[in-house]
This record gives sequence, C-alpha cells and structure tokens, in this order.
Amino acid sequence: MKIGVLAAQGAFAEHIAVLHKLKIDAVPVRLPRELAGLDGLIIPGGESTTISKLMTDYKLREVIKERAAQGMVIFGTCAGMILLAKHGINGYPETLKLMDITVARNAFGRQKESFETDLKIPVLGEKPFHAVFIRAPLIKTVGEKVEVLAKLADGTIIAAREGKLLGASFHPELTDDARFHEYFLNIVAGKH
Ligand code: GLN
Repeated sequence: MKIGVLAAQGAFAEHIAVLHKLKIDAVPVRLPRELAGLDGLIIPGGESTTISKLMTDYKLREVIKERAAQGMVIFGTCAGMILLAKHGINGYPETLKLMDITVARNAFGRQKESFETDLKIPVLGEKPFHAVFIRAPLIKTVGEKVEVLAKLADGTIIAAREGKLLGASFHPELTDDARFHEYFLNIVAGKH
C-alpha cells in the first residue's frame, strides 16, 4: 500500500510522520506524476486558499479528481476537508468538489478559534479521541450518501465519510493517537 500526502502547504510532514510510525510507505506529492500508483491521498490542514492556488499551479486538480474517480481514497483534514467539499460558505476557495458536504470556513467564534476537546467517534472505538481544532471549518449539511462520523456536544458535525472520501475538521496528525489514520488505512485496504 502506498499513501501520498499533498505537500503544497500546511501540516504535510506531520501526516507523513504518523504514516511512517505505522510502517506505511508514505510520500509527499507535489507533481501530477507522483499521484500514479497511490492507493490513498491525504490533503492536510493549512490555508485552504493557498493550497487551492498551489493545486492549480502544480496542475494537480484534474489528476486528483481523475484518481478519485478511479477509486483512490482521500482523507482531508481541516483545510483539506474544505478542499474536498462540493459546497461552501464564508469566502470559499476553488475546491475539488468531490464530497457532498457544505462546509463553513473559520466557523468557530473568536475565543474558540482554536481549541482541543475529547470526542466520541464510534467508528474508532470506545475510547474518546482527543481532537485539536485550529481555525477549523465545520460541516453545515451533509448529502444523502454521507455518513456522519463525529459531532461536538452541541451537535455540530465535524467528521464525515462518503464512500472513499473522508473529512475531519480537526488535526488528527498533531496527537499521538493514530486511530483516525488507521481507520483511513482500513478504508484503503478495503476493510471498511
Ligand atoms: N482556516 C483555514 C482555512 O480556512 C483552515 C485551518 C486549518 O487547516 N487548520 O483554510
């Protein structure tokens, strides 16, 4: 199994480090040809407007969409989830328009712009998942085929899956708990 991490801007090195810890062959992706042969791709958090612009400059946009249509699994975290979304509000960059969710950028109030909390994520098991939110987006609405994976205590949706697409508002690569990455890898392996 080979996993790529989009390395335009943002927290790509942290994702690669988690994957290496899990003994996965993981490579940074900047060129269209580096997407060939990948079973899965992670689009990291960072600044979605910047990543969007670089995806265009590096000519990655169409190739990622093609590979997704061929069954490559994609996991978008934070800005990466914004880039997967079909619909958005609050000053939206051009996205890949793959996942049937409506996302609001920078959606948490000022004093809660960045925060950490323990989440119940049933697909990851009983133990709560410690999640780090940094100027995070939230998911306003989900389409019919989208499974909600996690919500905040107030009902705000912050993680979802649509087939081979996975999105999370927070940064699972910034803690020691690799269960979200393992969940993604199980989707890639066809086990979920
Ligand atoms: N606020 C960023 C954006 O809208 C996302 C922040 C992040 O990825 N941590 O693109």
